[in-house]
Amino acid sequence: MSVSVAPRLPSIDSLLRHPACRPLNERFGREALLACLRQLLDELRPEVLGGQLAAIEIGPEALAGRAAERLAAQRRSHVRRVFNLTGTVLHTNLGRALLPEEAIEAVQVAARYPLNLEFDLASGKRGDRDDLIEGLIRELTGAEAVTVVNNNAAAVLLTLNSLGARKEGIISRGELIEIGGAFRIPDIMARAGVRLHEVGTTNRTHARDYEAAVGPRSGLIMRVHASNYSIEGFTARVSTAELAELAHRHGLPLLEDLGSGSLLDLTRWGLPAEPTVGQALLDGADIVTFSGDKLLGGPQAGLIVGRKELIAKIKKNPLKRALRVDKLTLAALEAVLGLYRDPDRLAERLPSLRLLTRPQPEILAQAERLLPALTQALGPNWRVSAEPALGMIGSGSQPVARLPSAALCARPQVSKRLRGRSLLNLEAALRGLPVPVLGRLDDDALWLDLRQLDDEPAWLAQLGRLQVPE
Ligand SMILES: *Cc1c(COP(=O)(O)O)cnc(C)c1O
Repeated sequence: MSVSVAPRLPSIDSLLRHPACRPLNERFGREALLACLRQLLDELRPEVLGGQLAAIEIGPEALAGRAAERLAAQRRSHVRRVFNLTGTVLHTNLGRALLPEEAIEAVQVAARYPLNLEFDLASGKRGDRDDLIEGLIRELTGAEAVTVVNNNAAAVLLTLNSLGARKEGIISRGELIEIGGAFRIPDIMARAGVRLHEVGTTNRTHARDYEAAVGPRSGLIMRVHASNYSIEGFTARVSTAELAELAHRHGLPLLEDLGSGSLLDLTRWGLPAEPTVGQALLDGADIVTFSGDKLLGGPQAGLIVGRKELIAKIKKNPLKRALRVDKLTLAALEAVLGLYRDPDRLAERLPSLRLLTRPQPEILAQAERLLPALTQALGPNWRVSAEPALGMIGSGSQPVARLPSAALCARPQVSKRLRGRSLLNLEAALRGLPVPVLGRLDDDALWLDLRQLDDEPAWLAQLGRLQVPE
């Protein structure tokens, strides 16, 4: 009579000594390898006891193979490059603006070496990190002074708290906006300690509405650029110049949150008009706040620019210390601002502007060029075509404006009932590529807007790996 003996798992010690595991020890370190092997053995034990696994499946080589896969997956970075083919150029969820080479080099230097972050090399005394970009900001916007914080939301919070705490902030009802990620002007005002005094109506606010609101408790007048929506039809708003005159007559500062805040008039590149920082200051705004990584095309940052004595007050606020930017951001920001000194070459050198201004015929030609490769990769169940498409700037800039672009459009050749599932499968397969590809679903099709496809070879090289389930 023969008794069948269930195979046994090797011991941790014997595994660690086994030649198959030694390279893993070298590569990932003993601690990580040990933890991984323990976890594997714990997971396999019930199956082994149940007799579901053959001896070969739990031999040292097989276990080392499993451990190698798992350790490699754990080591893979969670911050991953993707192809943004959504058609939205400044996509907040995908990191907004791409930095120009000049900024990347500046970041490398700042990362690698000590630097004069808060040290004045001329006098040998302690310096201020904002001074590193103050000269450029003055030149490019006409502002007297600047201070930089983590993002524009922080800029608005800090400015409101510094200039309006325990007082009233007067703002039009048409500008009480919400920006993505639960940033709402009324909430930010409350957190900044400013009492909201709303005036006018959603669609129409007049100078007399502001005038009637001014009183002994007033601390500031605020204007917010309605960057992510538009009010059309029977509307009225007070111009910045008129509002500044009114504010100054009552001894109040006018704060203008531009959101995107372009430094230059974008219409010279055929883009929709966007108020510029310089113009807002010329019109009389005392403080202007804007983002570093929206239309400016730089790193995430919030810039607060304007009158010297107000900026000085803002910089004295202890919150400034909590919201300040780091050296990498400042290095990148200075390099990006430097490019603005030569507007004629800006569209070549600043990636976000270059992408925003790519002409539609060029993108359409690219779509036609890539059409055969995608058609082949998707197989007979898909109809792929190169088509004109409409993209967006993104980040709340010009929400109504569309960028004429072009896309590869994939339509599943299945019954209507199965189409949704097919499209979701294709989306998932594209996300599963080594460099995930992100497109947009619309009108029973998957659209890959090519405005932002720079690296064609890398995109093509991985298409062969695409596995679209039936
Ligand atoms: C985008 C935006 C903000 C927030 O800027 P972040 O840099 O994203 O923090 C604030 N106000 C307006 C009007 C905006 O458009």
